[in-house]
Amino acid sequence: MKRRIALVTGGVGGIGAGISRRLAKENVFVIANYVVPGSETPFIEAMRAAGFSDDQFAVSGGDVSDYKAAEEMVTQAVARYGPVDILINCAGITRDASFRNMSLEQWRAVMSTNLDSVFNVTKQVIEGMVAQKWGRIINISSVNGVKGAFGQTNYAASKAGVLGFTKSLALEVAKKGITVNAISPGFIDTPMTQAMPDAARAAVIASIPTERMGLPDDIANAVAYLASTEASYVTGTNLSVNGGVHLYQ
Ligand code: NAD
Repeated sequence: MKRRIALVTGGVGGIGAGISRRLAKENVFVIANYVVPGSETPFIEAMRAAGFSDDQFAVSGGDVSDYKAAEEMVTQAVARYGPVDILINCAGITRDASFRNMSLEQWRAVMSTNLDSVFNVTKQVIEGMVAQKWGRIINISSVNGVKGAFGQTNYAASKAGVLGFTKSLALEVAKKGITVNAISPGFIDTPMTQAMPDAARAAVIASIPTERMGLPDDIANAVAYLASTEASYVTGTNLSVNGGVHLYQ
């Protein structure tokens, strides 16, 4: 079987790097997308330190919130490494504020990064997947997209949008050998949640039935399953990986 190629948007971030590492372990060639210049360097160093060589992974710069930039990034990556078999839409940001204090900029930044990006990048790879009659699309949503969260009307709306996108595209391409699924992480220990004030972090941990934040590997393990051939009968689902937080809803 040919070695599969995965594109992970936001692939050098906390969860994205965990996903990239895990897929590389599964003998998938991983293209980790990044947007902040220089943010790819620690990722490359960590991958090399973990024993991965340059023929097992690559990085690709590009702002996935921008359609043209996403198109260019994917076109270049495909020309260099081959068609994308597995797409993980993982790039995301928060710009928290109560709705009454939320600016249009905060709204737009989150919607374009978290939701438009899913359109922008999926659009570039879907025809290749249809042509080869195999594909895996895994969208990283959030428990807050399901239950809502104070100060996150923008973030929760974007992540709920990702779930609607996932279910609809799953229906459209089910006959083509392509599965489309979402994973909704709970609180995962990454730079995104490390930016929270200590008291807020402590309150979050106290609210988790398993009494710990998740690790990027907890999400990466779920991605590895959904990306596998064995998961061919799983499509349009939302896999909650959150230590039981959803049980309170
Ligand atoms: P992170 O900040 O560590 O990583 C996000 C990555 O996305 C960063 O590398 C960032 O530079 C990149 N990114 C942002 N905007 C981009 C753009 N326009 N183009 C390309 N890359 C861009 O955060 P994380 O915790 O690893 O989050 C990864 C995903 O998981 C996000 O979609 C986030 O919403 C989701 N998530 C995280 C948690 C959590 O608790 N950490 C919970 C639920 C969902």
